[in-house]
Amino acid sequence: VELPIHEAVLGRAAEFGDTPALIDGTDGTTLTYSQLDHFHRRIAAALAETGVRKGDVLALHSPNTIAFPTAFYAATRAGASVTTVHPLATPEEFGKQLTDSAARWIVTVSPLLETARRAAELAGGVREIFVCDSAPGHRSLLDMLASTAPEPQLDIDPAEDVAALPYSSGTTGMPKGVMLTHRQIATNLAQLEPAMSAGPGDRILAVLPFFHIYGLTALMNGPLRTGATVVVLPRFDLETFLAAIQNHRITGLYVAPPIVLALAKHPAVAQYDLSSLRYIISAAAPLDAKLAAACSQRLGLPPVGQAYGMTELSPGTHVVPLDAMNEAPPGTVGKLIAGTRMRIVSLDDPDKDLGIDESGEILIRGPQVMKGYLGRPDATAQMIDPDGWLHTGDVGHVDAGGWLFVVDRVKELIKYKGFQVAPAELEALLLTHPGIADAAVIGVYNDDGNEVPHAYVVRQPTATDLSEGEVMMYVAEHVAPYKRVRHVTFIDGVPRAASGKILRRQLRQVRERT
Ligand code: ATP
Ligand code: MG
Repeated sequence: VELPIHEAVLGRAAEFGDTPALIDGTDGTTLTYSQLDHFHRRIAAALAETGVRKGDVLALHSPNTIAFPTAFYAATRAGASVTTVHPLATPEEFGKQLTDSAARWIVTVSPLLETARRAAELAGGVREIFVCDSAPGHRSLLDMLASTAPEPQLDIDPAEDVAALPYSSGTTGMPKGVMLTHRQIATNLAQLEPAMSAGPGDRILAVLPFFHIYGLTALMNGPLRTGATVVVLPRFDLETFLAAIQNHRITGLYVAPPIVLALAKHPAVAQYDLSSLRYIISAAAPLDAKLAAACSQRLGLPPVGQAYGMTELSPGTHVVPLDAMNEAPPGTVGKLIAGTRMRIVSLDDPDKDLGIDESGEILIRGPQVMKGYLGRPDATAQMIDPDGWLHTGDVGHVDAGGWLFVVDRVKELIKYKGFQVAPAELEALLLTHPGIADAAVIGVYNDDGNEVPHAYVVRQPTATDLSEGEVMMYVAEHVAPYKRVRHVTFIDGVPRAASGKILRRQLRQVRERT
């Protein structure tokens, strides 16, 4: 059976009844499954009555709150495609997304209302701004709960109709609107479920943003489909995060590498009772095996598992199944999920398939490959070849057991005298230095025309005397000469996207300015 996303996720909501679906991690407010089910239907009815039509784009502009999923499923039930917006977007950035996606409606929260208003002014074309909470002059989702309008009866075609229109992270260029149909998202959920299966009694902590495809799948659609409870935090703050794990007896974490780093290294971790945790999954950026091991050993947990994907893949293709955490080789991002095919091809010749343990570009074909980039047929054609293979732009290799290892992005590889150096490898090595709290590496051109690694390093508070020379020496002791770091700059913090990815473009800009 083919279901629209709100049916695919909330199909069993009535059955889960009084089980808490969402808990506000800051004030404890709870939304049960019955409420989630009832509320999103009422709001869908009110949205339809207001004029939301099938195919309209609705921008959901909110930090993680317990209302976020209700707003999302209400919008899709009313037939809209939801474009999720970074809550910290400036009016200009948000305005561009509104224009690009031709959004007609905005759902925001009162603290962000001014940004939403200015974005709507810049873009034009927005018919109304709703708020989840309340604000004078704006219709509130809370009021919509009282609506007596009939529930919209729409003919949603899961194979064609776009449910979500997330924007890619913009790590390598401008963010692009990714058209994901109901079928693509629902199929990917079903493909991932055997590996990720949570259920009633499980408590998942949602600190990564719902607006990003990783949070949307791993923290919202996935757990809510299975009857788990999602504890919601609006932003990452280590102590609040640790307190939430302790107080809400969190069983599973889906995080990005910077949180694994904090769990492995930060002294505050020892002050909390984290014994309820059963597993940690990391995705969205490279995670070093040693760092992962340090984290799991410190917490007395099975090895941190990884998953791999991208917005254009709805998003998942690989995951370490929960029941295989102990046997998975360190550093792997997992095994290919059912119904998906992968090729590893030569970086020099995309027609040449590579063998076991040979690194090349990862190509994916499967039902979760996006419908396309919104309004960018050329970019879509560059990404998906005529045979349906999506070129991920990531470099990786597969071992004899079928486990995938992601090396880095093709574009980030530093080419030094014909050799290739992966920034992720050097970053992982730098993090093993006790005086280094965080690090990022980019390729820069020397006067002699060679591209060489430049490390940006955050010192541990206790290591204020760590010098550039020491950092270079440390790397030189551990890697082949062509991989040596040739420049070091100390910085206060590594710039990262909300999904935890290093923003290397910003480091480049810092370099160009100085
Ligand atoms: P843009 O495409 O706009 O430049 P982006 O690629 O960062 O931004 P996302 O779709 O959020 O946007 O991220 C997908 C990318 O994240 C993948 O292509 C890959 O490089 C990286 N990634 C995801 N999971 C992992 C992982 N487990 N290990 C290493 N890299 C990962
Ligand atoms: Mg990308």
